[in-house]
Amino acid sequence: MSDVTPKRFIAGAVCPACSAQDTIKMWNVDGVPNRECVACGYADTLNAQGQSVPKELGTRVNQAEAKPAAAKGQTVQFFPNPKLKK
Ligand SMILES: [Zn+2]
Repeated sequence: MSDVTPKRFIAGAVCPACSAQDTIKMWNVDGVPNRECVACGYADTLNAQGQSVPKELGTRVNQAEAKPAAAKGQTVQFFPNPKLKK
């Protein structure tokens, strides 16, 4: 009796594992949010505290944990968008 919602892409979401944007699908299973990155295969769920709980994906787990620091101190560089200037 699992209540599963359709997977939907989350606009603007950034993968915590590979930092790719717009690659995150999200869906609910029994009210629990699940996320999945279609770019690198990273997947996690959110617990009752809203904290990310990475799924165990066998060998993929080691790869996903290789660069957790990238999610915190993001050093992504963006070129200034001239459209933002008025
Ligand atoms: Zn990813």
